[in-house]
Amino acid sequence: SDIAPSLLPRPRRLLLLLNPFGGRGLALQWCQTHVLPMITEADVSFNLIQTERPNHARELVKGISLAEWDGIVAISGDGLLYEVLNGLMERPDWEQAIKMPVGILPSGSGNALAGAINCNAGLEQVLGLELLLNCAVLLCHAGVAPLDLVAVTTASGARCFSCLSVAWGFISDVDIESEKYRHMGAARFTLGTLVRLASMHTYRGRLSYLPPGLGELPAGGAGEARVGGPPDELLVPLGQPVPVSWVTVEDDFVLVLAIYQSHLGADLFAAPFARFDDGLVHLCFIKAGISRAALVRLFLAMEKGSHFEQECPHLVHVPVRAFRLEPLTRKGILTVDGERVEYGPIQGQVHRGLARLVTG
Ligand code: ADP
Ligand code: MG
Repeated sequence: SDIAPSLLPRPRRLLLLLNPFGGRGLALQWCQTHVLPMITEADVSFNLIQTERPNHARELVKGISLAEWDGIVAISGDGLLYEVLNGLMERPDWEQAIKMPVGILPSGSGNALAGAINCNAGLEQVLGLELLLNCAVLLCHAGVAPLDLVAVTTASGARCFSCLSVAWGFISDVDIESEKYRHMGAARFTLGTLVRLASMHTYRGRLSYLPPGLGELPAGGAGEARVGGPPDELLVPLGQPVPVSWVTVEDDFVLVLAIYQSHLGADLFAAPFARFDDGLVHLCFIKAGISRAALVRLFLAMEKGSHFEQECPHLVHVPVRAFRLEPLTRKGILTVDGERVEYGPIQGQVHRGLARLVTG
């Protein structure tokens, strides 16, 4: 009774946001059965809120008092964490807010970030409930690491913060078209891939990028805004030509993928060399002319992350700081972190270590 209560260690307080419709809709059941008992045991106190609609998590996060929480955890697929990060960045105090540790307990159909966290911890690649349990244990360990975010701008001028990828062509087509197989969980991507392979499209586009170390002098800054995040000092507005220090290729592509984490899905080890805060966008693309058989081989090898070892001449990887993609094919699908965005010119630049991720 002589110890002031304020000197006693207090339990970590986590805000858990759960999307009851993520993946196969098992999030709440899995959470109640497996996760909540584990984190209670680890002396973590928490509030669990179920999201009621898209953008609910984003709005909640914009309104919370930062001092009340030690972390915000999305119990969902990657989509809900994307909302959390963007909600934090939309706050007037974004510079403080984005330092809030964010975590993920994978229970959606797209669980790329969880796959990356699991891999980073040196654990064997697993799926479903096993991946959720691994991530729950890591969440209890509470270690936090800096996480790169990529500011992505589309033709309308809208800017968002992305933590996973921008995709065009084969991958975004599969991601969006396979929404109708959502009830299958992660298997939706396998089926979607097979369906898509049967009618392989190619897309014409112009891809420009700024390699690291090359002319990283500020381009002038497309983003004058201090409100809503840091300025994109490497970018010029989409209506203007890219700076002269950039490299441009115009070609026909099967896919273009700008990825910043190691995983594209829990079992898609797409960029084995990527680190949470390497300050790099890994620009990967497959050029037209690849055979279906070679494309299948690449996707099969991606489970183990050995696809680059095949030295396929159509597959290219360039690490960059910033990129611009200008689709020339009139119709197509673009995704940011697996969610569809407006089709047209799109560009992004990395902001190294801007966010903080619970990695265990
Ligand atoms: P999945 O990996 O299965 O797609 P996500 O967590 O990525 O799961 O969620 C998919 C989408 O569902 C997200 O864009 C999110 O905004 C939206 N969402 C969140 N809560 C709800 C809800 N209660 N009802 C419908 N959609 C929701
Ligand atoms: Mg998703």
